Amino acid sequence: MSEDLYARLKAYEGQAATTAGAGKDLVNEPMIRHWCEAMGDTNPAYTGPDAMAPPTMLQAWTMGGLSGHTDRSAAQDELFGLLDGAGFTSVVATDCEQEYLRPLRPGDRITFDAVIESVSERKTTKLGTGHFVTTRMDVRADGEPAGTHRFRILKYAPAARAQLEHQPAKAEPQPAKPEPHSEGKRPRPVINRDNAGFWEGVAEHRLLIQRCEGCGELRFPWLPGCNACGSADWDTVEAGGQGTVYSYVVMHHPPFPAFDPPYAVGLIELAEGVRMVGNVVGVPHDKVRIGMPVQLEFLRVDEEWELPVFRGLPGGAG
Ligand code: ZN
Repeated sequence: MSEDLYARLKAYEGQAATTAGAGKDLVNEPMIRHWCEAMGDTNPAYTGPDAMAPPTMLQAWTMGGLSGHTDRSAAQDELFGLLDGAGFTSVVATDCEQEYLRPLRPGDRITFDAVIESVSERKTTKLGTGHFVTTRMDVRADGEPAGTHRFRILKYAPAARAQLEHQPAKAEPQPAKPEPHSEGKRPRPVINRDNAGFWEGVAEHRLLIQRCEGCGELRFPWLPGCNACGSADWDTVEAGGQGTVYSYVVMHHPPFPAFDPPYAVGLIELAEGVRMVGNVVGVPHDKVRIGMPVQLEFLRVDEEWELPVFRGLPGGAG
């Protein structure tokens, strides 16, 4: 029966989600300014007479606002209706990818088409069982291809929560029990073309920092281009592994499978000068301090996965 459902879902691949969509406003300076203020982005490329829009605004120019768009095709509603009818009533956005083909500048007129690119087989995730639906939107500026925005959601049947909610109330308070960590795996990072090299390094126990071939600036996390000079050429340097705690938080709640709160998450300033987020291990969570020296290690978190973490060094600050 589910085979039959999948065949019906699959038939929507390639069908239009939006046809001949049009941006409600031309690309314009006020929206660019609001975006940059919200993001804290002071890059001079986004102001002045030759201003361009931040590339990551690509989707913003296509949004329908509160009143929505009238150019949605019926296919997407039908597909979601099928999924709802099969019990996959919940939805969560999982990730998005963008490609940029040309800069957008004030005055550009935005048009777009979107297709249902793929519907996955039935998958079981921590949230529940369901299907991933990927939509691809091709955006044009004054009729020229300007970029692509891919958006993936999971339509799923919520699993564990429904069971919890239907448990009868207990007469007496029960002592809190830790989560069964052995069952939970750490959430996986999204690995894409822009950051795959970082995770390949981790697999070899090397923490790789990107270095711009244009100006030499080091950057982390990995990005396709240099924020300092704009160059898209880069190589890597391997971090020596020394750093200090620049800032940190201690996670107490909520408990997630595969995590064992309380634990400390540090923003580590590496000796090379870039900062990265990682667990601080080897010292009690309440002994972590700003300025504490740390040393990189690789921690096996489950059968398949290792992560860079930072061991707090005794005798440091704190
Ligand atoms: Zn550079």
